[in-house]
Amino acid sequence: MLLGVGFVAMTVSAVNDSRATERLDLAAAGVRTGMNALCQRLRAAAETAAVLGGNRDAAAAQQVVDRKLAAGVQLVDPAGTVQYGAGALPQKPWADCSEARGAATVTAVAARVEVIDADGRRLGYTYAVEPVDPTLVRGLAAAAGAAVTVLGGGGWSTERDADKRQVTRVAEGLRPGTAGETDGGKLVRRLDRGPGQPLPLALSVSREEPRALYAVLVAVVVLAGLLSVAAAWWLARSTVRPLTELSRAVDRLASGDLGIRVPVRTGDEVGRLGTTFNRMAREMQDYLQALTVSRDQLRRHLGLVGDTLSSTHDVNRILEVILESALSATGAKAGVLLLTDQASGVLVGQCGEGLDGRGPGGEPIVVGDLRLRMGEGLLGAVAASGEARRGRTDRDGPQLAANEPRCRAYVVVPFTAYGPDAIAGPTGGLSTAAAESAQNFESPGPARGVLALYDRHGFDEFDDADVVTLRTFAGQAAVALDNVRVHREAQRLSLTDPLTGLSNYRYLKDSLRREVERASRFGHQLTVLALDLDHFKDVNDTYGHAAGDAVLAEFARRIRVEIREVDLAFRQGGEEFVILLPETDAAGGAVVAERLGAAIRRTPMLVRLERSVQPVRIPITASIGIAVYPDHGASGAAVLEAADDALYQAKSGGRDTFRGAWARGGSAPDAAAVSAVGAPEVPEPPRRSHDG
Ligand code: GH3
Ligand code: MG
Ligand code: MG
Repeated sequence: MLLGVGFVAMTVSAVNDSRATERLDLAAAGVRTGMNALCQRLRAAAETAAVLGGNRDAAAAQQVVDRKLAAGVQLVDPAGTVQYGAGALPQKPWADCSEARGAATVTAVAARVEVIDADGRRLGYTYAVEPVDPTLVRGLAAAAGAAVTVLGGGGWSTERDADKRQVTRVAEGLRPGTAGETDGGKLVRRLDRGPGQPLPLALSVSREEPRALYAVLVAVVVLAGLLSVAAAWWLARSTVRPLTELSRAVDRLASGDLGIRVPVRTGDEVGRLGTTFNRMAREMQDYLQALTVSRDQLRRHLGLVGDTLSSTHDVNRILEVILESALSATGAKAGVLLLTDQASGVLVGQCGEGLDGRGPGGEPIVVGDLRLRMGEGLLGAVAASGEARRGRTDRDGPQLAANEPRCRAYVVVPFTAYGPDAIAGPTGGLSTAAAESAQNFESPGPARGVLALYDRHGFDEFDDADVVTLRTFAGQAAVALDNVRVHREAQRLSLTDPLTGLSNYRYLKDSLRREVERASRFGHQLTVLALDLDHFKDVNDTYGHAAGDAVLAEFARRIRVEIREVDLAFRQGGEEFVILLPETDAAGGAVVAERLGAAIRRTPMLVRLERSVQPVRIPITASIGIAVYPDHGASGAAVLEAADDALYQAKSGGRDTFRGAWARGGSAPDAAAVSAVGAPEVPEPPRRSHDG
């Protein structure tokens, strides 16, 4: 703006200068014209006076003056003597219109004409005179349109005195044709004497400074300055301060102060930035809070899962805890866990949460009733493919089975573990399928179970992070189930005799106590059979220990074939066995003893010896003692002892037979039943006896 103002001022000043110079030029032309006209007029007056005054008539001169052709007229003879005069005739020197030179100071402008008579004689000169006075100067100034000052002419001027002196001084110092300037700001031009211009003159004009324009320019500059200051103040207030506050707040936020907020004063970009910053800080705070809460929750659940895994082998409890933890870790509203039933290959619900109202018709779902074939519905498909799935039913629409829980969003992961059948009780063996799957733990294939979560709080859908989380929990479920299986297997092995596969003496004691308790609670009878192979030492001696082992295994197998499912068989030690027959009286016991004796006796044991190709046939018999609870003992141990006693009786009685404890007192069994079976008079079994 300052540059613009300067430019305008300079331009205006330059234009002014050139206009003043132009005016001086015009004034010079005007003065010359005016002076020319004066000289013409004076010359005409002198001519007239000369013509009329040929006869030296002073009256003619007076006429010329009276008619105002000149201020004064004078006739001079050739010798220079004044003959007569009329009008105002100031003191000489005069400036002659026809002479370019003259005195420095003149009093009048004059025109001279020669007076010649009819004969051509020169009679003298007539002068027509006009005095140099203010009237003349004013007339010249009017013709010039500028102030006129006579240099060396009595000092007449249209300028005021002070200016007149300055103008005179400047004009006298100028070279002809150039212009100068006075201290008072007047442009001056000197107009020298010349033909038709007998007076040395100075022309002067005011520069006409455009003061109003300068005032306007100054006002504009001042106003612009004020506006600049105001704009700077406003910018600082509206932009710089909020930005400074914002940058400080960002610093604080970066150093962890999530509670920081900035004041929002305006609705402009900076204000919106502040609002956005505040919202961001608030959301970060909320998010951090939620994270902290969910971290604490996860910690609690991890602790719970850990505690549960280490403290219990209750499969259902473990699965429940895992499902609950998975639900809370992902924020899901409902979930279900299914395991594959080894025998049928069907997925069976083990535990569930939030399944109320999730049936096809909005009815609750009972977890135990949730059964799906491999490949059936969403859960069956995941189990069959072994691949996790997540999505929304309204979008990717997986085919839900009729009894599957209804949902909007779902995430389902498979896991490999062993079904409930594999985690069988101590008396059951590990099924073939379970044994195979134990070996193929890492191999892909149909899953042993699936863990599914439905709909979550807050968000629409489950994401990949949820799948990862759920896989972790499913993996824990698999490991937990496997641990339980291993634990139970170890327990089972510790209670099982490895040679015969029957339960061992340790388990016999437990079972005996349990069965006696049960019998006493329900008022049933419990029959105990004690068995001992006859002359078994001879088998070992004859065929070797390995053959003896084979005979024992085959003996156990025949026992298993002969007894009912509820009956329990044990190897007490060596070649001595015990069978518990729950809810069986003495007569029943006798029937079983008879049948067992016959089954052993009837077919010799086929044993392949190490060296021979053909198996050898080893005939075997056994002696059996029978005792009944509560008839022959008040406790399990007592009854077992009574059975042992009866066994001893059977041995004494010739072997390959049975005896009841009743034979030595106590209540006898139903006579009819016993006699129906018949106490066999047994022939000696084939043996190479040496004990007589
Ligand atoms: P009996 O009972 O008829 O009086 O004659 P026995 O020959 O069977 O006599 P005893 O009961 O004293 O002999 C038991 C023998 O059984 C002793 C031992 O060599 C044998 N025996 C015990 N345990 C095992 C075993 O695990 N394997 C084999 N092969 N033999 C065993
Ligand atoms: Mg024996
Ligand atoms: Mg024995």
